[in-house]
Amino acid sequence: MGELRRNIIDADFCVVGGGMAGMLAAIAAARHGVKTVLMHDRPVLGGNASSEIRMWISGAGTRVPYLQETGIMEEIALENMYRNPARNFSVWDSILYEKVRFEPNITLLLNCACCQAKMNGDSIAEVTGFQLTTYTWQTVRAKLFADCSGDSILAPLSDAETRKGREAKSEFNEEFGLEKADPYTMGMSLMLQCRETDHPVAYTPPSWAYKFTTDEEMHNKPHTMLKDLNTNFYWIELGGMQDSIHDTETVRDELLKIAFGCWDHMKNHGDHGADNWDLEWVGFLPGKRESLRYVGDYTLTQNDVEAGKAFDDEVAYGGWQIDNHLPGGFFMDGQAGGHLLKRRLTEAYGIPFRSLYSRNVANLMFAGRNLSASHIAFASARVMGTCGIMGQAVGTAASVAIKYGLMPRETGRLHIREIQTLLQEDDCFLPHIPRAISEICKDAKWFSSGDTSALLNGIDRTYGGVDNGYFGKLNIPIVCTFPEKRRVSSFRLVVDSDLEREYMEGNPNLMKIPMPLFFAASYEHTSFGFPTCVLKEFTIDILDDNGEWKTVFEATDNIMRLISGKIDAETTAVRLVPKATWHSSRLYHTYGSGKCHIFAFEVK
Ligand SMILES: Cc1cc2nc3c(=O)[nH]c(=O)nc-3n(C[C@H](O)[C@H](O)[C@H](O)COP(=O)(O)OP(=O)(O)OC[C@H]3O[C@@H](n4cnc5c(N)ncnc54)[C@H](O)[C@@H]3O)c2cc1C
Repeated sequence: MGELRRNIIDADFCVVGGGMAGMLAAIAAARHGVKTVLMHDRPVLGGNASSEIRMWISGAGTRVPYLQETGIMEEIALENMYRNPARNFSVWDSILYEKVRFEPNITLLLNCACCQAKMNGDSIAEVTGFQLTTYTWQTVRAKLFADCSGDSILAPLSDAETRKGREAKSEFNEEFGLEKADPYTMGMSLMLQCRETDHPVAYTPPSWAYKFTTDEEMHNKPHTMLKDLNTNFYWIELGGMQDSIHDTETVRDELLKIAFGCWDHMKNHGDHGADNWDLEWVGFLPGKRESLRYVGDYTLTQNDVEAGKAFDDEVAYGGWQIDNHLPGGFFMDGQAGGHLLKRRLTEAYGIPFRSLYSRNVANLMFAGRNLSASHIAFASARVMGTCGIMGQAVGTAASVAIKYGLMPRETGRLHIREIQTLLQEDDCFLPHIPRAISEICKDAKWFSSGDTSALLNGIDRTYGGVDNGYFGKLNIPIVCTFPEKRRVSSFRLVVDSDLEREYMEGNPNLMKIPMPLFFAASYEHTSFGFPTCVLKEFTIDILDDNGEWKTVFEATDNIMRLISGKIDAETTAVRLVPKATWHSSRLYHTYGSGKCHIFAFEVK
């Protein structure tokens, strides 16, 4: 009892850090057959999106229409919308937990902080973390590693090259670059969660909280917004001029004084519409915006981001605005958002695979806040939808690297198309690269009640002003016939999941965010919806030798956008019979009664 133990795990791929980037890297690799370990230092997954921090996930699609992240990001969002209508953070935590914990190829090490590494030449041979709950040193030996810790913990342990702070204009020729580089970063924040009640609620602040008696002392931060519901307390921010790793504990103490002081101001100093509001929760773990960034073979810049640049090795994309917080944080003067430097983007930019592996440590990849980007490009790419799809790209790339026994750089050079194809098949959108269509579908003939051509155009969402979907009637099959008998091994179906969340009850800006921090202003609105256009019931049938349709796959309660499955038969025809959506009257109004909307139906 009580002694420290040691444990060694052998794996193909080890991911450090279980934020959205690390989770998706681990899940993607594991689903492609890679023996994976995810080492995460907290009890709950999701990083800044977890119940410990409660930052809301946004991404390219929150700003630019139809760029909502799909793949595992949308899978998680749909599951959460379906199972968590009250948007409860414990339910959210449980969904993230089960996605990883019950994925057969993942060993999940929670409460385990990575703090040592051993090198073998220019590669990492093993990493070790201390698991607080078991008093055990957990060592993971693996062929490939991905650092998704946000703080780039493997950089000091492996001597991987990193950059920190804000670059000079001269370095990348960026408009928002500084005249002279400095080491400052965006700060970290503690979030507040509050809820409106039907009666006045008093509040007594702690004696150690700051006293802000006037709006000026609040530095004019937006604090009369409780009914606005489309904002949060992101501006309780500090630490940009300190060290975002080593000073975290002292910055946290200051943030707590500010957080409780702000709530005191809203409740007790002036009318901020907060009389009936109660403080529900205050975070004690600062959410970090920026620490170290790795240097990869390519460094993404402001110019790439603003040009909507396409890369041959595109594996993810961004589209969130350049959202650069100036280092002064809360104490900077300025009106609402005065400490931000923003510029909206109008289209997606590609994130190249070369920005997701280390320039000098051969078997090290990274995703999320760790990516290889300038400070200004990072200011756009740092949002969690974007971090998540970077993670899925890294996990998928790891599976291809393991398959060929190669390091990330060679894998990208020799097999980038394979990585991209796997990502696209898994419903990850690559805005500048069309998805290849299955060979056996190309000379097939299609019959149905609607126009089936969109099913095979390689774009599985409404995009660029084009719907790209098939509209058809429920119970009318979509039939695919081949010129002669073919072996069919699997099907792939992508249905409309309302990426814009425009057919759901409530504020669409909030609907796009899986876990909005604020509950609506009244009790009536504490339940959120599920996208009713999702195809709930359908069958996949094949034509047998007697000329009869035989069902090989049946869904009765589907909640997913991407559905794929095995068929394994020789046949001359396959059909999809859409039977029911999770419809509502609003959907009927928009789509017409008894209709469905499908972006892809293919067999291989
Ligand atoms: C206050 C605030 C507001 C923001 N606003 C938004 C917003 O509105 N929308 C949005 O999408 N994004 C927002 N962001 C940005 C976003 O939250 C981050 O950029 C994002 O969380 C990065 O995701 P990640 O997976 O790369 O890293 P993180 O979410 O930081 O996750 C990394 C995880 O790794 C773990 N870890 C660290 N070190 C170790 C170690 N040594 N061993 C094991 N595990 C380790 C950490 O505990 C952490 O959970 C905001 C950030 C902050 C702080």
